[in-house]
Amino acid sequence: MADSKTILILGGGVGGVATARALRKRLATTHRIVLVDRERDHVFAPSLLWLMVGKRTADAITRPLLRLARKDIDVRVGNVEHIDPDRRIVTVAGEKIAADYLVITLGADLVPDVIPGLAQAGHNFYTRSGAASLWSALRNLRAGRIVVLTAAPAYKCPAAPYEGAMLIDDSFRRQGLRDRVQIELYAAEPAPMGVAGPHVSSAVTQLLAAKGIPYHPEHQVTAVDADRKRLTFANGTEVDFDLLAYVPPHRAPAVIRDSGLTGESGWMSVDRHTLQTRWPNVFAIGDVVSIPLALGKPLPKAGVFANREAEVVAENIAHAMAGQAEPARFDGHGDCFIEIGGGKAGFGGGDFYAEPKPAVTLRQPSWRWHLGKVWVEKSWLYTKL
Ligand SMILES: Cc1cc2nc3c(=O)[nH]c(=O)nc-3n(C[C@H](O)[C@H](O)[C@H](O)COP(=O)(O)OP(=O)(O)OC[C@H]3O[C@@H](n4cnc5c(N)ncnc54)[C@H](O)[C@@H]3O)c2cc1C
Repeated sequence: MADSKTILILGGGVGGVATARALRKRLATTHRIVLVDRERDHVFAPSLLWLMVGKRTADAITRPLLRLARKDIDVRVGNVEHIDPDRRIVTVAGEKIAADYLVITLGADLVPDVIPGLAQAGHNFYTRSGAASLWSALRNLRAGRIVVLTAAPAYKCPAAPYEGAMLIDDSFRRQGLRDRVQIELYAAEPAPMGVAGPHVSSAVTQLLAAKGIPYHPEHQVTAVDADRKRLTFANGTEVDFDLLAYVPPHRAPAVIRDSGLTGESGWMSVDRHTLQTRWPNVFAIGDVVSIPLALGKPLPKAGVFANREAEVVAENIAHAMAGQAEPARFDGHGDCFIEIGGGKAGFGGGDFYAEPKPAVTLRQPSWRWHLGKVWVEKSWLYTKL
């Protein structure tokens, strides 16, 4: 068919699934939508925080990507090996795929190995296997010192390690064992959720204090001794632990770096409103991009942004294919639930593109926000895939 176009989406995480679904709604089935991921399964990452404290099973938060085939989306399981953005030709498991439009949403690589000993010593709860192994370890621990660690100052979902520490607290309270475990949070960053502003940081710090979780910011881990169960920090501090739960350092996916697609930030650069890269008809969204904000830090990496960016890109591709010029614009708005345990969550959000700094508010924790997160989880897992 002469007028049939191929839209190739790299990545089947939040951004990829949202883009594919939004495009399919807008485009006739004469146009091919191809989605590529190296994994067969899509995991709803916000629920990893419930998996790590036994409130979900791995299966309950996972869906096969191939389900998208029911929506006329052509799913390919394979490793993206090379991207030629000038010609929009992508190599997937040795096969070249040509695209009229390319949407790159490959997320972030998690690289615990850059900190010696880290991967051997602890549980990486940013992965499904790490969150599951953390729960196995937590349920067998009857006393001791648990350290929740951020191994680099910038990572996706800036609330997650703070939520994780509070959910661990909740888990031990429910078992009546809280007075037998110490839970401490060592963070590489200077304050929780710094881009959201000092009032949000201070509210989260107070929540930790109220739960008896000592907080140690500006502690950059440099090495972990897995045998002695000891952390060493750049400031010379050494800390022993019985159980370590960590957020690993992140970096742009290997194929993005190897294909020369990173900008000065080490991530992909895009127009902050249209998510267009410098290559025609090539877009990038989600964690793989870095969008600088006026306050000097980038837009946080979060699914809520990947999802909204996907809508904008889908709209603009559909408009371009229909010969319409007026582009949709991503406006930097986003929000998130902050689980604090006890069936409650806070809710923070606002305009991250506001200048000179983001205008973000944090609502008081309540059971309503917790139910809000449950609703988002269910609607994602049951309506998107
Ligand atoms: C514990 C946790 C809790 C979170 N909670 C929240 C929350 O409450 N709210 C929120 O907004 N965000 C949250 N996030 C963040 C959110 O999950 C991410 O920001 C979001 O998934 C980013 O979407 P993405 O499409 O950019 O990347 P991803 O969803 O990470 O998708 C990238 C995809 O690309 C694939 N891929 C990578 N490289 C290749 C390759 N070479 N070949 C083939 N496939 C490849 C990967 O397999 C992956 O499926 C949380 C994250 C974690 C870990």
